[in-house]
Amino acid sequence: MDYLEGLNPPQRQAVEQTEGPVMIIAGAGSGKTRVLTYRIAHLIYSKGVDAFNILSLTFTNKAAAEMKHRIEQVVGLEARNTWMGTFHSTFAKILRVEADRLGYPSNFTIYDTDDSKSLIRTIVKEKRLDDKVYKPNTVLARISGAKNRLISWQTYQNDPYIKADDETAMKPKIGEIYKTYQERLFKAGAMDFDDLLFNTNVLFRDHLDVLNKYQQRFKYVMVDEFQDTNLSQYLITKKLAAVHQNICVVGDDAQSIYAFRGADIQNILNFEKDYPDLFVVKLEQNYRSTKTIVEAANSIISKNKAQLKKNVWTQNENGDLIELIKAASDNEEGRLVASTIFEERNNKKLNNSDFAILYRTNSQSRAMEEALRKMNIPYKIVGGLSFYQRKEIKDLMAYMRFTVNPADEEAFKRVINYPKRGIGDTSVEKMMIAAYEHDIPLWEVVTNGSSFLAGRAANSVDDFATMIKSFKLEVERKDAFEAATSIAKQSGLLRELYEDKTIEGLNRYENVQELLNAIKEYVDNPENEDKSLGAFLQEIALLTDNDRDKDQSDAVTLMTIHSSKGLEFRQVFVVGMEEDLFPSQMMMQSREDLEEERRLFYVATTRAMEKLYLTYALSRYRFGRLLNCEQSRFLEEVDSTYVKVNKRMSSAIASSFRDYGSEGKSGFIGLKKPAMRTGTTAKIHTPSPDFKPSNTNNLQEGQKVEHPKFGFGDVMKIETEGANRKASIKFDNFGEKTLLLSFAKLRIL
Ligand code: ATP
Ligand code: MG
Repeated sequence: MDYLEGLNPPQRQAVEQTEGPVMIIAGAGSGKTRVLTYRIAHLIYSKGVDAFNILSLTFTNKAAAEMKHRIEQVVGLEARNTWMGTFHSTFAKILRVEADRLGYPSNFTIYDTDDSKSLIRTIVKEKRLDDKVYKPNTVLARISGAKNRLISWQTYQNDPYIKADDETAMKPKIGEIYKTYQERLFKAGAMDFDDLLFNTNVLFRDHLDVLNKYQQRFKYVMVDEFQDTNLSQYLITKKLAAVHQNICVVGDDAQSIYAFRGADIQNILNFEKDYPDLFVVKLEQNYRSTKTIVEAANSIISKNKAQLKKNVWTQNENGDLIELIKAASDNEEGRLVASTIFEERNNKKLNNSDFAILYRTNSQSRAMEEALRKMNIPYKIVGGLSFYQRKEIKDLMAYMRFTVNPADEEAFKRVINYPKRGIGDTSVEKMMIAAYEHDIPLWEVVTNGSSFLAGRAANSVDDFATMIKSFKLEVERKDAFEAATSIAKQSGLLRELYEDKTIEGLNRYENVQELLNAIKEYVDNPENEDKSLGAFLQEIALLTDNDRDKDQSDAVTLMTIHSSKGLEFRQVFVVGMEEDLFPSQMMMQSREDLEEERRLFYVATTRAMEKLYLTYALSRYRFGRLLNCEQSRFLEEVDSTYVKVNKRMSSAIASSFRDYGSEGKSGFIGLKKPAMRTGTTAKIHTPSPDFKPSNTNNLQEGQKVEHPKFGFGDVMKIETEGANRKASIKFDNFGEKTLLLSFAKLRIL
């Protein structure tokens, strides 16, 4: 029983109250997750409950794994038998067993967001709808919202309010798309993420024997981060617990940050109504953070009107004051954060993993990543791709790469038909094969599209070539920023992203802007002599290569505030504390929006155990321009007795940083050569030492020739005269190939 000694009285009460409905509403860091963990251990260890009968729903699979690990320390391997995971992973498991009840195969596929969007794109095309109006993201968001509120396509089509909504939004066909989308998923034996919850609800509604089976099985049901469940999730939980009524939910209304995805704080209030004999536990003692951090966080959340009364306190020491760091620019902000981590780590003998950098939007990671790389501080990005790995960034970089180096095949594949210009995969393949077989650069095939392709694809390739040629001229005449900006615009890439008005779409658009900002800063930096696009690309390629070699086990964590929920770090930096960035410009439609942003700020500050830094920049490159920024209103909401302004001379830090910068560059070894692509198993021919291409104007059938790659062969046939004159040649080792004589290098023997 000694494990219970690690709990304070109300925590212990919550752990020991195993029967009946329990709700723990408590502040950040007060041990909610700890209570759940101990509760499960207690059930198994002291109450003799079979681990198979316990279901625990967490926010991430990682959190579940951690809990399991801790329970294992008390009860041993038996812990592994508890059902523990996210809503999605848990119910996917149940759906696999019960799939036939819903007419699905048990090995149904789960579509990820890309699959879903691609399906919607196809449906929009088939229905001959305008894909500018019915953007996959927008349509999917609408369908997803409906599913999370358990609105089937049938209900969707018959509901006059929804109909009116869609008509006002000038998207009256969403109901129709929703229907076809579901039919196609079903036909493909596939479910999307929302279906996993939606179909579980259907399963439990229509198949009472199945519901009963799981009700009997899960004698104890627990939910962490209850404030962020949506209706669909809530109903599943409630149904499962209906027989035994042993349901325990833990949450913090002050940390509800997913309203935009359908999470409903009402669930907390409804819970009291749904279970009149509810046992409510309040936990108010914070064990995570210093007094300074706890009280500062209280001062922040007290500005919200909509909240349950809580008085969070701690016995922990006062600790350091919160440090406010003001930087001249976003890059300097990155440098100051990196150098502070560097100093703190050395002075206090901390690990890299003791630090986290939290931001409001993913695009802010770029300046941080660059500063950390330059100081050789290992970092990892959680819940998001590294800036330069994101698709939209890769796409624009691919345009730049292909413009600068048209032999770059990977870049070519990315951009040739994106944004869509009617060049299908077969055409792309044909061009790549042609380049290989004629032993000519890909670029030569692209600039002679009509020689290798027919019809519409040929015209599109010609247009593409003209566009790239104009980019080449820009790259020759202009600096990297000007050239990159016009590539982003003229390629249609920026427009494609701009027109997507969903949150993810705006994010991608911002990311591309952020890349342009980085190029602008590169150009503006007097240390960079070569301001060409080629030089910039080289610099970036080296940065990413350095990064890959790093051991990631002890690394600074970079993530959005949203994904930091439930976690804790010794030192936390909340960066970009500026108006329009945090609170986000996009979330300022109403008081509710502002309050959700404030809860997000509360979540961010309460991740810190020992030290919290709030940083902002006076200027930031956004939309390709250096904009002046105003400090966030949230900074004024933090009680100033807990804050000190960082007095360090930022320029001194900047110069010490420059030293690290040059050190980092001493490892320069130049760009790696791209690997050879052969594409065939036959051994490539080595041309004879005296190989010199002959004039093939008079090439005849029956002649013997040598090709630099395919070796020796016989001319079988000559077809089509003029510019498109071709020869079919039977090579000794490579079989018969048709080559365009104006391109093929052949030596007549
Ligand atoms: P959040 O709201 O951020 O999810 P939480 O309420 O789930 O926080 P926990 O993560 O469970 O809080 O606990 C915060 C920290 O305090 C953890 O490091 C935990 O081990 C510690 N802690 C909680 N309760 C106690 C206790 N009674 N004695 C010692 N440490 C405790
Ligand atoms: Mg928690």
